Amino acid sequence: MVGVVPFLDLPAQQRRLGAALRERMERVLTHCCFVMGPEVVELEARLALYGGARHAVAVSSGTDALLTVLMAEGIGPGMAVFLPAFTYTATAEVVLLLGAKPVFVDVEADSFQLSLASLQARVAAVKQAGEVVPKAIIGVDLFGQPAPWDALKSFATQEGLTLIADCAQSFGAAYKGRKLGHEAMATTLSFFPSKPLGCYGDGGAILTDDDDKAALYRSLRSHGEGQQRYEVQRIGLNARLDSLQAAVLLSKLDVFEEELQRREAVARAYDAGLPSLITSPARVAESQSAWAVYCVKLPSLSLRESLRQHLTQAQIATAIYYPKPLHHQPAYQACHDGVPLPVSESLGEYVLALPIHPDLTDEAVDYVIRESQTWAREQHEAE
Ligand SMILES: *Cc1c(COP(=O)(O)O)cnc(C)c1O
Repeated sequence: MVGVVPFLDLPAQQRRLGAALRERMERVLTHCCFVMGPEVVELEARLALYGGARHAVAVSSGTDALLTVLMAEGIGPGMAVFLPAFTYTATAEVVLLLGAKPVFVDVEADSFQLSLASLQARVAAVKQAGEVVPKAIIGVDLFGQPAPWDALKSFATQEGLTLIADCAQSFGAAYKGRKLGHEAMATTLSFFPSKPLGCYGDGGAILTDDDDKAALYRSLRSHGEGQQRYEVQRIGLNARLDSLQAAVLLSKLDVFEEELQRREAVARAYDAGLPSLITSPARVAESQSAWAVYCVKLPSLSLRESLRQHLTQAQIATAIYYPKPLHHQPAYQACHDGVPLPVSESLGEYVLALPIHPDLTDEAVDYVIRESQTWAREQHEAE
């Protein structure tokens, strides 16, 4: 008996990171440069290198990263921004905060990533209606896997739309042999503790190859500051990153590749061991997942609920991402045009996320697999 299998194990992570983590944090307590200190400068250099981008601009969260990028593009009233309906609320929230219109796009049933066919249809419809001007696409790298970037890039170029990557869940993943970080004009990251690269609070970053945009993001994250201190060039935000969070992230980056390998090993063990009644996540072609989420599919809502209940009784934590697509959420209903997005609308009934994190032991993985097999046998016997 393994006992409890948590969805995320931050105490175990802290023990594994050990003294190195505390030393880095101790250094911040010594220099007392708590906001945008030397750790932030070091972190930005390492993030840029890792993601293969010229610049990394550290910010206070993944949401503020998206907000900063949209502000830099001048997104506002009368403009449409296209994004998947099957994602976290932050992707759409920032569009509405700026007074623009989020246009929800459907996803693929197997990979859960943005559907190009749906995107094409949605852009064409918005152009024809002529009420708002199509401006940008936010491609979301969902659950650790990349969005279909090659297709998105050629479509965005053809339509003259700005392409933004919401990579909050997938930093560390690779697409066509290269780490994510430069597929779009700007790539936004989140370091919320549950993301593949997480800090111990809120944090985020923006990666870009564009020198002018990087300078603009730096100004926007600090109240629109100009070249001089207290020179206010534009309306901005307080979206800076704390040095303590950067210190945590520097420690985590030292072991990031090992963690990604461990997540991959857990995913492969699940793939091989789960019963056939449970469909393992489909892989995006030519990619390597960062495995933020291992999301399986069940044949029906009742089977999903029954498996979830069985695992809960066995003290195995699970989660449902996402029970409801964004356009069905109270906050977004009014801005949706009523067009059906059938895949996003039905996925909530079938999906179930199993625990996947670098501190999951082999025993815990075997236990999750065994319990899933026990459950599947009970289903067959009940037939
Ligand atoms: C977590 C997340 C965000 C927001 O990141 P925060 O750091 O929590 O603000 C944005 N988009 C997606 C897809 C996310 O999963």
